[in-house]
Amino acid sequence: MTNCRICNNTNITTLELPKFKLDQCSDCGYAQLSKYPSEEEVEKIYKDNYFEEKRGSDHINDSKMKFEFVEKFIKKDGLLLDFGCGTGNFLKSAKEAGYNVCGFDVSEYAAEYVKTNLNIETKSGKFNEDVYAQESIDAVTSFDVIEHLTNFEYMVDCFKTWLKPGGYLFLTTPDIKSWDAVVLKKNWYGFQKYPEHINFFTSKSLRILLESQGFKVEKVKVWGFVRSFEYIFTHWIKNSKVQNISLKVLRALHLQNIEIYIPMVDLMLVAKKD
Ligand SMILES: [Zn+2]
Repeated sequence: MTNCRICNNTNITTLELPKFKLDQCSDCGYAQLSKYPSEEEVEKIYKDNYFEEKRGSDHINDSKMKFEFVEKFIKKDGLLLDFGCGTGNFLKSAKEAGYNVCGFDVSEYAAEYVKTNLNIETKSGKFNEDVYAQESIDAVTSFDVIEHLTNFEYMVDCFKTWLKPGGYLFLTTPDIKSWDAVVLKKNWYGFQKYPEHINFFTSKSLRILLESQGFKVEKVKVWGFVRSFEYIFTHWIKNSKVQNISLKVLRALHLQNIEIYIPMVDLMLVAKKD
């Protein structure tokens, strides 16, 4: 990247991480891999097993929390599209609350799963602006998707085409300037998902991107996640001896299912089509 893709600034610095290099804009903070993975590499990533863990109850609770936030902005009688719906945790919450929903995912496996198990209309594969009719959608949600795509400007453009005037767009993505990214540096969670995560945003860069595509940004806020103690101990304690003892204590105290909200990693953007 010689000029920032978001704000066109020419002052770009290169960060060296163990597995890859990142080009970062010194102004808006946007960063991307110096070299994107090939299309074949990308296709290999989103195989069936990519979605398996995401069906666990911890991720379902995350989706519920997102839906409770989204619901404050949208009307019940419209159509909501979840773009990058995975195996449909968010769509399930929205449908159960009485919303009219549909989903899209690059993975045919995920889209079929949602269709079969949740009875929700889905599409899959490569997207283009003809996937949905112009001005046919009332709200688009796209959670943790933009950091995976090489052509994210086009994705935002498609959202604008599909949304009705006054329609809402909700995006989440890891924030490369979040407090945890600043503290953890090279060990930050956002960098661990290589080569799935290829772009990294800040609230400033995300705002510029959306405004340059004609959206009115209503809110950008810190977004975290909900996890049970069982999940945290199982996934985050690397030493197996320590993990076993900790889990035993946790279960003996009946604390394993207690959930906590961790305010880090992501940002949530709410934008409106004029
Ligand atoms: Zn920039």
